[in-house]
Amino acid sequence: MTDLTTLGIAAIRDGVRDGQFKAREVAEAFNAKVAGARALNAFLVETPDHALAAADAADAARAAGETLKPLAGVPIGMKDLFATKGVATTAASKILEGFVPPYESTVSQNLWNAGAGMLGKLNLDQFAMGSSNETSAFGNVISPWRRPNDTAALAPGGSSGGSSTAVSAGLAPGATGTDTGGSIRQPAAFTGISGIKPTYGRCSRWGTIAFASSLDQAGPMARDVRDCAIMLEAMAGFDAKDATSLKLDVPNWEAALSTDLKGKKVGVPKEYRVDGMPGEIEALWQQGIDWLRDAGAEIVEVSLPHTKYALPAYYIIAPAEASSNLARYDGVRYGLRDLPEGAGLQDMYAATRAAGFGDEVKRRILIGTYVLSAGFYDAYYTQAQKVRTLIARDFERAFGECDVLLTPTAPSAAFALGEKQADPLAMYLNDVFTVPASLAGLPAMSVPGGLDKDGLPLGLQIIGKPLDEQGVLNAGLAIEQRAGFTARPQAWW
Ligand code: GLN
Repeated sequence: MTDLTTLGIAAIRDGVRDGQFKAREVAEAFNAKVAGARALNAFLVETPDHALAAADAADAARAAGETLKPLAGVPIGMKDLFATKGVATTAASKILEGFVPPYESTVSQNLWNAGAGMLGKLNLDQFAMGSSNETSAFGNVISPWRRPNDTAALAPGGSSGGSSTAVSAGLAPGATGTDTGGSIRQPAAFTGISGIKPTYGRCSRWGTIAFASSLDQAGPMARDVRDCAIMLEAMAGFDAKDATSLKLDVPNWEAALSTDLKGKKVGVPKEYRVDGMPGEIEALWQQGIDWLRDAGAEIVEVSLPHTKYALPAYYIIAPAEASSNLARYDGVRYGLRDLPEGAGLQDMYAATRAAGFGDEVKRRILIGTYVLSAGFYDAYYTQAQKVRTLIARDFERAFGECDVLLTPTAPSAAFALGEKQADPLAMYLNDVFTVPASLAGLPAMSVPGGLDKDGLPLGLQIIGKPLDEQGVLNAGLAIEQRAGFTARPQAWW
């Protein structure tokens, strides 16, 4: 019999519906694989019973002749940034150790309502701040990928590195991610899977632990474009509990998937040809352009003149919002409390925050507090907001000339753990291609395009107009079909 963990979301959904196998068998197979892969440190909490309960509900519904829910029988991994009722939720920070939410996030609730079950909570960079998963307070995630004849452990990308590892190692057919500046797309690219950040406002942020509220968006990470479309349909939707949630129906993205790009224009932004970009990335980008032309699209060069200011603007705005959002972790309400003998309230705040937050989180709080301080607000924060507007306008103008944009996802393949950790700037530079679409709130996706000289995955990014997830998915699918990317981290498959 086929190893059920080799199946993706669509195959599991269809197989359960058609009676090829039981949802319970699927859940058991993934639960076992998760338990056997602890060396990767992808899961912070395993919840095999959650997955089994959802599977049993799917099997019972089928036995009763009911129409099955869209994700009936599909077990998934949940990034530990989503509050899950009764299941420990920490954002990979010591400050939330021991926090068990009494409520469920909207995105996770939407997935359970669609019939999905949870395999566990996935490790991440602490409060989703990072690009390598090394800022987790509970140990870094290890990518299942390796360079040939090299034992160096590689970064799975970040911040959704538990998610990228779980999907690429076959521990889950799909996983949730969140993306503030690239945290779905860059880890997807590093591990040879697909992931989409929808338009800001498509997925409710309610119950998702906040990093930078004007940028944070949830999205799916899965083995292919179709699976992403299916999962995103279940995750998205208007939510009155999130003031920035878009009051729009969720399109049927899966049904409208098409790889015929005739009449579509694909823009190639010339400013993304950054200095020092490896030749292999350049070559893959050209290959992607050729694939989309082959799918019927017309290719046009476009200009996004403010691209070079995106990274500095992001690293002002995101820390500013983070410093405000993270003020709530004070030892009073949840998680860690450090109450030194004879301490006053201020001492307790200070001791709790000193002990609870990791270095990267503290760095961001300091930067954020600084750029929001009375003396520097105009010089940094106001300035960054103006740049953000200019970047959004660049995209608006470019989308007057094209339907989607094609760029590389990241300026390199996965780097080794430890390689960039001592140099925050080198780490931040990894987000150079993903941050602009975040600042503009645009839908953007990474799909695997090929392998580098060391056999490591490289991703291509498609950025779309606001609300045009369909255009993004379709271009992604056209690439996927032509790339024929089937490489897997062998040790895990
Ligand atoms: N790597 C980026 C950062 O550290 C993006 C993180 C994210 O998207 N959550 O801020």
